[in-house]
Amino acid sequence: MRTKIVAGNWKMNKNSEETEDLLNELIDKLPEDKEVQIIVAPTFVNLASAVDHLEFTNITVAAQNMHQNENGAYTGEISADMLKSVGVNTVILGHSERRSIFHETDALIATKVDTALRHDMTVIFCFGEELKDRKDEQHFNVVENQLRDGLFHLEKEAWQDIILAYEPVWAIGTGETASPEQAQEMHAFIRETVRHTYGSEIAENVSILYGGSVKPDNAQEIFGKPDVDGGLIGGAALKADDFVAIVNAI
Ligand code: PGA
Repeated sequence: MRTKIVAGNWKMNKNSEETEDLLNELIDKLPEDKEVQIIVAPTFVNLASAVDHLEFTNITVAAQNMHQNENGAYTGEISADMLKSVGVNTVILGHSERRSIFHETDALIATKVDTALRHDMTVIFCFGEELKDRKDEQHFNVVENQLRDGLFHLEKEAWQDIILAYEPVWAIGTGETASPEQAQEMHAFIRETVRHTYGSEIAENVSILYGGSVKPDNAQEIFGKPDVDGGLIGGAALKADDFVAIVNAI
């Protein structure tokens, strides 16, 4: 059985007080008995307090990004060691906003993946096609290339620390979701692509999350698809009731 996961990517939202308020509400309302791993990714400045706050809960804290180098003259950046030192063992890498707004390339993301794994972190690896790729019917190619360039240099053993998050760029923050059928079609393709390179065991064990305008009213249908193992949630992760409803949809 693959691990079911719901992760909330808070992006550049919630100051310190708002972070604490949302975490408190999540602690109150999230189910404790569900077979689902729950992850939240507040901003860097609130990670340490979030880890403290969530210490005796089943909620894991992730960072939204990190630098590929160990330390040094990289003004404004955060290293893997710094994250680990405040108890953060999971990091989101390759998010489409990092790729498009901050010009992160597949090669750079691959280096970040290596750094994270060297520090025994779990990586939530994000990838997905843009609207023009889908219109040009290039979406499978684009996704395959992102996987190959970002992850397929890894040894088999490394895959136990990889979570995949397929996020079609045209569905992120737009209110437009991939249909459950489109999500399933792509997730099955992703699993097949992993199987082709790494074999069935890794392909069957890797969790593939869907991200892009997941809301309480569409979560159940998307999560009901056999190759969708949960979601990476943006906007709807900022309201406790919505996030809890999405977790309960698993
Ligand atoms: P969204 O964002 O749920 O607001 O579309 C998803 C994401 O960017 O991870």
